[in-house]
Order: sequence, then structure tokens, then C-alpha cells
Amino acid sequence: MTTPLETSAQYYGHEANFEFMSASQVKSFIGTPGIQACEERAVAELNGLYVRPESNALTIGSYIDVMLTGTEDEQYAFRDAHPEMFSSRGSTKGQLKAEYRSANDMVARAFQDRDNGGIFMRSLTGEYQKVVTGEIHGHRFKGRIDVLGDGFITDLKSVENVNKRYYNEGWWDFVGWWGYDLHGAIYQELVDQLTGHRWPFYIAALSKQVPCDIDLRQVPQDRLDEAMERLTPSALDRIAALKSGEEKPKRCGRCDWCRATKVIRKPRILEVV
Ligand SMILES: [Zn+2]
Repeated sequence: MTTPLETSAQYYGHEANFEFMSASQVKSFIGTPGIQACEERAVAELNGLYVRPESNALTIGSYIDVMLTGTEDEQYAFRDAHPEMFSSRGSTKGQLKAEYRSANDMVARAFQDRDNGGIFMRSLTGEYQKVVTGEIHGHRFKGRIDVLGDGFITDLKSVENVNKRYYNEGWWDFVGWWGYDLHGAIYQELVDQLTGHRWPFYIAALSKQVPCDIDLRQVPQDRLDEAMERLTPSALDRIAALKSGEEKPKRCGRCDWCRATKVIRKPRILEVV
């Protein structure tokens, strides 16, 4: 039997996360240059013992998604689900609170591009939040694609700064740092299994700077292929064995979960630095 994935509650639900792997799940197990991998935290998250801290950034991202690609009904539903974003009294009642107001500027920036003849909004034309499933190295995968266009795939991202470089044993752009190339590679593969076409992968990015920057990047095919190579059969087998409890997860010793659950069994010798 297959878990239904139609609603977002089903898609992100416990059962679906056990039955299917996904780009973000794989990232929490194997990490990216900017995301610390921690097997024990990833397993704890699956079991509901660890909950990722809520952040404004995530809420702003979802707000932009729904304002640029959602129906009017979805936009109303989003407002109902996120009362914390809107002022509840005074002359600003019903408007976005100050800390979320930049989200409106980001949405407006996308429409400004369209009004000036830009193609940013065209990259967001297609089926929204399209759920795709398939198999990679014998493991079932699910993906929820922001936009499945006619001949292309687009992920809409709100980023700090589209030109920022990050350092971790080498320099990375935001795509590599956050593992968006891995998302693209998985989406492309699942869409290929569905349609028989390997479509290009774009990232439509809006920055949180004032004024907001706008960018449309195509992730080159060799980078998608490279990302796919990181999903080796043995890496996926290991994740499956950790999910089923056959293998014991390793602690990274550096993340918030490890910090919160550490037990002192003996003193550590202070290392000379
Ligand atoms: Zn850890």
C-alpha cells in the first residue's frame, strides 16, 4: 500500500517520510557544505523526537511561494494558518508585521520584473507544488516541485544574497552551500521517470536585501549530474537501514540535537590548539 501524498499534511506526514526518501531528508542524513549532517538527529526528527526550530525565514519563504504561485483560496488559507505574521490591532490591523514586511517587497519585486518585460514570472508558470514520486537505486523517492513548467523545472527561493560566497573547505555559491543542486538532481530524475524528459532546472531567487535583488539561475547539467553521483547506492542503503532501525545512527557531536542530548561520561583532555 502506498501512503497518499495529495495534501501537504500527507506529503510531509510521518508515514510518507518513512515510506519515501526526499531531497531534504537525504540532506539531513548526508549534509551539504552549509548543513551539518547528523544521522542521530535525522532519525530523531523522523520519530518526532526532534523538531526543527521555527524560523522567520521559513515562513517568509512559504509566504512568497503562496503569493507568487498560489490561488486566491490558498492565499486566504495561508493567512488563516499564520496569524503570527499579521498585525491584530491598531491602524495596521491585517497588515504584515514589520519583521515580515520585506516579504511583500520581494513579491512586488517579482511583479516589477514582469511589468518591465522580464521573464522571472514566466519561469513560475506551470503546475505548482507538483508531487512526483519514483525510485532511485531501488529506494522510493518523493518530491514536491515548486513549478513544473512545460519543459522546465523551477524552484522558487528566498536567499540572503544571490552573489554571496560561503566557505567550508572551499568556496561555495548559495546553490551548492544549501544543496539546491541535490534538490534539482532529484526533481529532474523523478520528472524524467514520469515524463521521459530530462528538463533543465532553474532557481528563481529573490534576495532579502533592501532593495531586493532578483535572479533566475539555471543550474548546469554537470552540476546536477555531480549532485546525483553523491547519492550512491551505499549512501541510500545506509539511510534506509537507519530509517528502519537496522543500523544505529552516528552522532555528529556538533549540532543542536547533539548539544542538547550530550551525556558526560568522562572528562576530556583539553587539546592544545
Ligand atoms: Zn548531531
